[in-house]
Amino acid sequence: MSSLPNATAQARLMGKTQRQANGCLLFTGYIAPNGYGRLWDGERAGQAHRVSYRIHKGPIPEGLFVCHTCDNPPCVEPSHLFTATQAGNLSDMRAKGRESRGPDHSEAIRNGWTPELRKQRGDFTRQRMEDERNAAADAAGVPRDWKYCPACSEWKPRPDYYRNAARYDGLKPYCKPCSSEKDRPQRKEYHAENREKLNAQSLEYYYANRDRILAKRRAS
Ligand SMILES: [Zn+2]
Ligand SMILES: [Zn+2]
Repeated sequence: MSSLPNATAQARLMGKTQRQANGCLLFTGYIAPNGYGRLWDGERAGQAHRVSYRIHKGPIPEGLFVCHTCDNPPCVEPSHLFTATQAGNLSDMRAKGRESRGPDHSEAIRNGWTPELRKQRGDFTRQRMEDERNAAADAAGVPRDWKYCPACSEWKPRPDYYRNAARYDGLKPYCKPCSSEKDRPQRKEYHAENREKLNAQSLEYYYANRDRILAKRRAS
């Protein structure tokens, strides 16, 4: 096993954390799809909780896993970390009742992603982006509910953006004129290439909702 992380790595790790109300120290840097944080430990990229363990508790014995008492993969709080064999890790998971969600969840469970954690992580990311956006708005001297459009490099109020519920702020990334401009060639091309399929979809939708559509048409 390589040497323990140096002071730079320690500073990097601790600079990318946020204390949670439940005592967890959440890693706020890059989180891999398996739920674990990743960062450079001075020699190589490693899992953030393992780096934290090595900094605060010493070398990880060969072949052992670093597990969380809090069941929260992005947590790097040293007192929440313990080493275990893979067998220990699995029985620990079983004890926490994560194995009873059916085969589709096996991957997520192996990676420690419970629905609660997923939501917590989503809320956390949204909050962080919100904070960053507010700080940028303050620096630019515009109201906090304005949004910067990277295409035209202008700050604009929320109504100047199309909605996109999937995004953290509920808005598309570019302002309306820029958004239309960007989508136009793509949209045209897509329609030309997929006309048959799109038409079939439209028809299918029509037949599935015919009564409602006809009623609406009659009413108008
Ligand atoms: Zn924790
Ligand atoms: Zn724009």
